[in-house]
Amino acid sequence: MEESTFRCERCGAPLEVSPETIIAVCPYCGFPNHISGNIKTENIHIIPSLDKNAIAQSFWKRVEKDFDLRRIKDDIEIVDIEGHYAPYWAGKVHVEGTVKYMKREEECHTDSKGNTHCHTVERHYTEGVNENLSLLGSARRQIKSLGVEDTIKHFSKSRPEETKLLNLDEERWGKIKLEILNTEMDELHAKLMMREDAVDVIRNRFLAKSDRIERFDIHASEPEDVRLLLLPMWVVYYKYGNSIFQTVFAGWDGKAVASTEPMNLFRRAEYLAGTGVGALIAAFGGAFISVSPIFGILAMVGGAALGWVAGGKALKGQRVEREGSLGVI
Ligand SMILES: [Zn+2]
Repeated sequence: MEESTFRCERCGAPLEVSPETIIAVCPYCGFPNHISGNIKTENIHIIPSLDKNAIAQSFWKRVEKDFDLRRIKDDIEIVDIEGHYAPYWAGKVHVEGTVKYMKREEECHTDSKGNTHCHTVERHYTEGVNENLSLLGSARRQIKSLGVEDTIKHFSKSRPEETKLLNLDEERWGKIKLEILNTEMDELHAKLMMREDAVDVIRNRFLAKSDRIERFDIHASEPEDVRLLLLPMWVVYYKYGNSIFQTVFAGWDGKAVASTEPMNLFRRAEYLAGTGVGALIAAFGGAFISVSPIFGILAMVGGAALGWVAGGKALKGQRVEREGSLGVI
């Protein structure tokens, strides 16, 4: 481990800082230390986490409730439980403008002899867009694989309470503290990404419902209510047979959001997310390497790109709606 020259402004503890670090939250007192880049420490919010015991209880409760897991319960052994806070940028972007598109539609008419004739016609539409999108995306350059996007989805649905990090005293911090992953993207960069991504969200919505976009004139305003959110996430590693599996829990309420499991791995991982593989996640900068024509889920799963979730209105009319609409973040 390299020697750190950075020390906490509040308590003097040594901080681990990498060249990418923008904010380093002190592991001892919880104070957000500004290291570099453009970010305001008063805009950092935290979602307090449950403790390790609560997560272990959630794990066993889930095993009890689950038909498949309950049967092998006696052979399951927890080998490790790890928790951390990961930084995300959240904000609102107003998008406005006009889109013209063409859609091929079947047109049928019945002649005087009672025969029906159908043919395809190209219809042209013009639609106005005027809405606010809530966006949430990782503030790190790399994303750990399992459960990250599910945690984001669960966040936008459950809307846990946020606390300003600067308002936490050492005592409160002592109760909720976990490792905090460093923030690697500053506010300016995040705002730029949000605007680009908001436009992409709209573009993809129209791509999905048209056969050709003929004119796309959409502008994104300066993001508002921009803040850095520290979201708690826990991973329970457990052993069954000769293999290690993991279940990921949202730290604020202990809900299992993703899992690898002794049975049908893929099926289970999808179920847990609630929305299945809902098409919630857009990639930064429009890198849509995806199963979904809408958003770049795989870009996040693979950890190759940074992802954004479009909450609330962004999702109206998309196929995500089957689970009810997502909360605006
Ligand atoms: Zn400190």
